[in-house]
Amino acid sequence: MLSVFCSPTRYTQGKNATASLGGEMLGLGLRGPALVVAGRSASRLLSPTWQTTFGEAGVEHAVHPFGGECSLAEIERVKSAARQHQARVIVGAGGGKVLDTARAAAADLDLPVVNCPTVASSDAPCSALSVIYTEGGVFQEYRFYRKNPDLVLVDTQVIAQGPPRLLVAGMGDALATWFEARTCVAGHVRNMRGGASTRSALALAELCYRTLLGDGADALRAVRARVVTPALERLVEANTLLSGLGFESSGLAAAHAVHNGLTAAPATHAYFHGEKVAYGLLVQLVLEGQPRSVLEQVLHFAAEVGLPVTLAEIGLTDLPAELLQQVASRATAQGETIHNEPFEVRPDLVADAIRAADALGRAWKTREGLTA
Ligand SMILES: [Zn+2]
Repeated sequence: MLSVFCSPTRYTQGKNATASLGGEMLGLGLRGPALVVAGRSASRLLSPTWQTTFGEAGVEHAVHPFGGECSLAEIERVKSAARQHQARVIVGAGGGKVLDTARAAAADLDLPVVNCPTVASSDAPCSALSVIYTEGGVFQEYRFYRKNPDLVLVDTQVIAQGPPRLLVAGMGDALATWFEARTCVAGHVRNMRGGASTRSALALAELCYRTLLGDGADALRAVRARVVTPALERLVEANTLLSGLGFESSGLAAAHAVHNGLTAAPATHAYFHGEKVAYGLLVQLVLEGQPRSVLEQVLHFAAEVGLPVTLAEIGLTDLPAELLQQVASRATAQGETIHNEPFEVRPDLVADAIRAADALGRAWKTREGLTA
């Protein structure tokens, strides 16, 4: 098996980075017209800056307001808007689902894509894959593209104005990266791009975990105060770049498969990807029989920043046996990344681990004097 590492062509991050968007695109040879697929708050916050930066760079642009879900229907709507404006590049600006939709449309039309995440809520922006959901918000499929985004531009001033909970969700997604990566590497399985992992990808995944532990709590305080600090810059890089490169070039395992399973329970739809992934990570660690010291470090971090460690905290105050069975079956569906674990994973094992992780999280909260 060949080793494969992939990444966006260029990654730009910093306070008020949006002001440089037009210039950054020109530097890569990306000319207009540009179709900007924009979430509501991205439009509200960034429209004046787009006018200026695209104006200065001589890049024509039109804005397509995002419909709310990365579904096949929304991807088609973006494609027809791109055709109508004769777009030569697609720019996604907003949360994870906006960027996933922009990437999917650009891939179908064979156009370059620029991702401008306005929140650091997941590690999707740097990747060459999208997660497709049904219009009702149930996980449908992963879609893989030939190449990663041409440019990922992260404006930390915008992220500092966003909801703190989204930054925390991004930490949940990033928290799983190192654990899923090392499971994949130990098992010599293929990464998300079909190759073996590299020392580079694994090192980035580990740095991602260490950055979370070191900077997560301070970065959260910065966003609560709506300010940009060095800790926030490092944490945003961990959530977006380190986690993105780490997961894609090393691989996913149980944590993300359990996330996909959890989407079968409608009550979890009110919770973010990263929040469910954080719970999925606890399930993975239980399933793998990891030592108490590992579990405690993860629980401690989760509690420190407010990531869920119990089923109730992802909306499942009540999880009937039948629904648990559906979740476990979905998590162990054929082709799921849970089969990257180095042992046979059956639905009943996963169902038990889901309950065990909940018991563990509740016991931890009681011990720490937190409300269980
Ligand atoms: Zn993820």
